[in-house]
Amino acid sequence: MIKFENVHKIYEDNFEAVKNLNFTVKEGELLVLIGPSGCGKTTTMKMINRLIDLSKGTIYINKKPVNDQDPVILRRNIGYVIQQIGLFPHMTIAENIALVPKLKKIDKEVYEKKIDELLMMVGLEPHIYRDRYPVELSGGQQQRIGVIRALAADPSIILMDEPFSALDPISREELQEELVRLKEEINKTIVFVTHDMDEALKIADRICIMKDGEIVQLDTPEKILRYPANDFVKNFIGEKRLNNISEMPELEKVIVKAITIKPEKGLAEAIKILHKYRVDSLVVVDQSKQFLGVVDVWDIYKNYKKEELKICDIIKTNPIILNEKQTINDALNCIGEAKIGYLPVVTATGELKGIITNESLVENIIDEFSI
Ligand code: ADP
Ligand code: MG
Repeated sequence: MIKFENVHKIYEDNFEAVKNLNFTVKEGELLVLIGPSGCGKTTTMKMINRLIDLSKGTIYINKKPVNDQDPVILRRNIGYVIQQIGLFPHMTIAENIALVPKLKKIDKEVYEKKIDELLMMVGLEPHIYRDRYPVELSGGQQQRIGVIRALAADPSIILMDEPFSALDPISREELQEELVRLKEEINKTIVFVTHDMDEALKIADRICIMKDGEIVQLDTPEKILRYPANDFVKNFIGEKRLNNISEMPELEKVIVKAITIKPEKGLAEAIKILHKYRVDSLVVVDQSKQFLGVVDVWDIYKNYKKEELKICDIIKTNPIILNEKQTINDALNCIGEAKIGYLPVVTATGELKGIITNESLVENIIDEFSI
């Protein structure tokens, strides 16, 4: 557990980079520090392992003030991952990972085994990668080594300062997913700095939003999305991510075009249309677009041999339908019951407007709320 108590950092030029921080990182928690450039994230993080000494207040690790501990020993017991990886180019991958375990005089046999385990954990085959040099790895692979190097000596705390910022978007997402998975496996306390809200939402147990050296809001991603503390937080989250349920989209927006057929058509014609549009049922309408009912592929196939039958003979006249004046909520409430899997929508005079499908609902709602 890491506890900040009235912590300030005043740099030599009298600039107060961090003002009276009070918060706790719980055991096994992944806490993300986020905020605009210069808000004090790195300063906050580096005070934990004493790369920067705090000016006022106390930081406790497991109830012991960090200022009472030898900074060198403290740092050996806290994993640290930064953006500029910092692998030693003249050492192999295995030697790089073994660095801290060696300093801590851990048995060679123990850490050699650990290196293989860690490489496997991030999907790098030990027999291929152990003896390579850093330049022989891609950026994403090097960053994976940076992460597992921080785990090699089994520290209970890991600090990560924008570790994935320099990576391409795909490696970045992969590493975020790996971190979430690793975290479940290893149960470490992790403080992670980023300025990317998507990254924070993806990996954090709790997010600490900072501005000008102060905490603006510290809470779970869910709470922050639902109850942003002020306009700064709202802006930082971005309008698109905010869930404003009062602004449900109009029903109109989720209506899509229906594939229709006239009642006097034969079943072979119906099958042709089903194939052409890759659908499994058709909406039946008359000349003036009045909604009459639906037919589905099974009814058509079952009756196919009876050549005299027309669509009007096998039509289902009472599927669940919606009136165009109803709401998205109504659609959400009854689409599950619709046996045909979608809802025809009609006007007050019975004319077909189109249909609402699960897909059209989901797409539009996701669009609207960007969840
Ligand atoms: P962040 O990591 O959020 O971008 P930092 O913690 O690096 O922010 O910096 C916070 C503020 O402290 C910035 O305004 C920065 O210019 C200032 N700062 C950082 N290091 C020093 C220093 N050694 N001396 C004076 N000011 C500094
Ligand atoms: Mg920084």
